[in-house]
Amino acid sequence: MSVIIDHTCITCNACIEVCPVNAISDDSNNPLGNPYYYVHPEKCVECVGIHEDPQCAAICPSIGCITWDMPFTKEFNDHYVNGAAYKLGEKNGALRSPEFKQRKYREDIPLSLRGVGHPVQEEPEDDKAANG
Ligand code: SF4
Ligand code: SF4
Repeated sequence: MSVIIDHTCITCNACIEVCPVNAISDDSNNPLGNPYYYVHPEKCVECVGIHEDPQCAAICPSIGCITWDMPFTKEFNDHYVNGAAYKLGEKNGALRSPEFKQRKYREDIPLSLRGVGHPVQEEPEDDKAANG
């Protein structure tokens, strides 16, 4: 995927309108049945070649709701095929896993900054100070 939406999503619909590749489904179409928005990892390209940053995270009002995930590459095929946080789509009966088709990802974001707990959008410094 590359980016993942967690339960702190407030279903505001902002991200779905800015995603350039229609990789986001709303809560009523979340393939896992969760009551919040979902990024289809097999579609997300981390906005590479289109925008400077992931647009979903740039517009999301719930700071920290969208976190980096692993690159959608063959190296992480098992991560996406077996992960409980995803339900990959199919094409002509084939699972749309990284082995089926890899996706672009931001090579400047190291693996050490990817995974649960690594938000794409940081809380602004001023807000951090205000929140103590
Ligand atoms: S990072 Fe870009 S391509 Fe991926 S879901 Fe967000 S807006 Fe869509
Ligand atoms: S912009 Fe953020 S809070 Fe709004 S629907 Fe998308 S993930 Fe949820």
